[in-house]
Amino acid sequence: MKKEDVGRIVKVAGPLVIAEGMSTSRMYDVVKVSDKRLVGEIIELEGDRASIQVYEETGGIGPGEAVYPTHEPLSVELGPGMVEGIYDGIQRPLPGIARETGAFITRGVELPALPRDRKWNFVPTVSKGAKVTGGDIIGTVAETVIIEHRIMLPPDLEGEIVEIKKGSFTVEEPVAVVKTPEGGKVPVTMMQRWPVRQPRPYKRKRTPHEILSTGQRIIDTFFPLGKGGTACVPGPFGSGKTVIQHQLAKWADAEVIVYVGCGERGNEMTDVLIEFPELRDPKSGEALMKRTVLIANTSNMPVAAREASVYTGITIAEYFRDMGYSVALMADSTSRWAEAMREISGRLEEMPGEEGYPAYLSAKIAEFYERAGLVDCLGSNERKGALSAIGAVSPPGGDLSDPVVQATLRVVKVFWSLEAALAYARHFPAISWLRSYSLYKDAVADSVRDTLGMKYLEDSKEAMRILQEEDELAEIVRLIGLDALSPKERLTMEAARSIREDFLHQNAFHEIDTYASLDKQAKMLSVVLRYHKEALKALDSGSSLEDLIDLETREKIARARYLPESESKAIPKIEEEIASEIASLKKEVV
Ligand code: ADP
Repeated sequence: MKKEDVGRIVKVAGPLVIAEGMSTSRMYDVVKVSDKRLVGEIIELEGDRASIQVYEETGGIGPGEAVYPTHEPLSVELGPGMVEGIYDGIQRPLPGIARETGAFITRGVELPALPRDRKWNFVPTVSKGAKVTGGDIIGTVAETVIIEHRIMLPPDLEGEIVEIKKGSFTVEEPVAVVKTPEGGKVPVTMMQRWPVRQPRPYKRKRTPHEILSTGQRIIDTFFPLGKGGTACVPGPFGSGKTVIQHQLAKWADAEVIVYVGCGERGNEMTDVLIEFPELRDPKSGEALMKRTVLIANTSNMPVAAREASVYTGITIAEYFRDMGYSVALMADSTSRWAEAMREISGRLEEMPGEEGYPAYLSAKIAEFYERAGLVDCLGSNERKGALSAIGAVSPPGGDLSDPVVQATLRVVKVFWSLEAALAYARHFPAISWLRSYSLYKDAVADSVRDTLGMKYLEDSKEAMRILQEEDELAEIVRLIGLDALSPKERLTMEAARSIREDFLHQNAFHEIDTYASLDKQAKMLSVVLRYHKEALKALDSGSSLEDLIDLETREKIARARYLPESESKAIPKIEEEIASEIASLKKEVV
């Protein structure tokens, strides 16, 4: 490096360092700060004066020290070795953090994100002479027992394969050589680098049309997410945002999961790091980590690393999407990310917007969610990839007028509204059935109908209608009392209670109840509604309301959720029992 290429620190303010002599650098270039070589990124550049956000603690660093440019943007390494990985916000591996709670990495360490010594068995899928373009799959690696890592040509490369290898290689060894149209020969390795702030390219984006089932009844049945869709979960402290994000990471029907934990509380991320490695996939029986990448940023890590972590996460997620996978990314919580933006912006003395957040907050949030989608992947091998993004938002006091919530709601298509009152009543997941919405419900209806039939969709509508009616009736009860309701209306209240308690309520910590397949959900909902239907008929023909409310079979309806998937065939039988118990009531009446 030429001597004049080294800048000098003039000021240090927390995670922000101002340096002069930076004229050879560009905006968003990574620099190494001081001889400790702390990683930083240029976020403002005026003449030769750069404002640098530093991803490591800046204590002990002072004016006069050197700043070394790298002339490269903040990038991630993409290739075999990411799955099962646990990284910090700038993709440094954190293997030991689960054991050492809140451990800091030594400053300035330059750990490669992908192991350099590990060899992967590369199986080529193209032959010598093949014409290839950016995004084409040239071979595969069995990265874990679940994930086949598809090695792709970098997006900007095209030409003819003049050499292709087979066998074991590290991520730095070439596995192919491509002759470009200009005649140059480019070695291709299994690893690519990609700047995190730049979305990875695709051919075209499509509207999500397939449900991303999550095993969570209120979500799948009422407010479904489409594969490639976006959702947000705002809620006050303790309302269950983290539990929902964990549930989705565990049970969402996606092939690859990227979980970004942006430091809510230090120990919470540790929970993830300890708990996740023990979980098993219900379908394959394999460890869930074998399809998961974790980005961990606890609140005791520097604020700037939090700002970067969502970009690191979504870039990794896009890369797996490009292979043709369905990927789900969870970010918990995006409020911490926004606060990191606010802190940096404040230190830059930018003009503050609402609540002190920078004026570009909405734009940043929109840019982030726009990176989700169902796409036709780049390359000549036809394939679709989906990236679904789900962000938790933790506004102070659960106030939905918070700027982060508002900016998020403007872009996402699903809103799961967590309510303190439900959490207080220990109704979990505390998702409000009256306030939440999903704009994918119609779009995914065909795919749901194809597998489960029309009845489930109709049942879902009917259940929602009953819950809405309950809300209106509850208002009357509040004003006048239960006596104001007709027996029919009392039955509607009972049916609504059953929908809430026997169907919507779901215990994340119960071995079986934690997950329900769509098939089981459809069966459970059908039973709950069958009770209402039969009881209404019986009421008309003279049965007493009390008898119908006290029906013994209702106990079985309540217990259906605890039946394992393998025994869910027994659920429709409960419907017969309801019908026959009600029929026997009628006989008594006669
Ligand atoms: P937040 O992230 O919104 O602060 P958490 O996700 O940590 O809230 O949830 C707070 C508590 O609520 C959990 O520790 C748990 O006891 C309870 N809880 C939340 N969701 C569920 C659920 N689906 N099943 C059972 N308990 C839940």
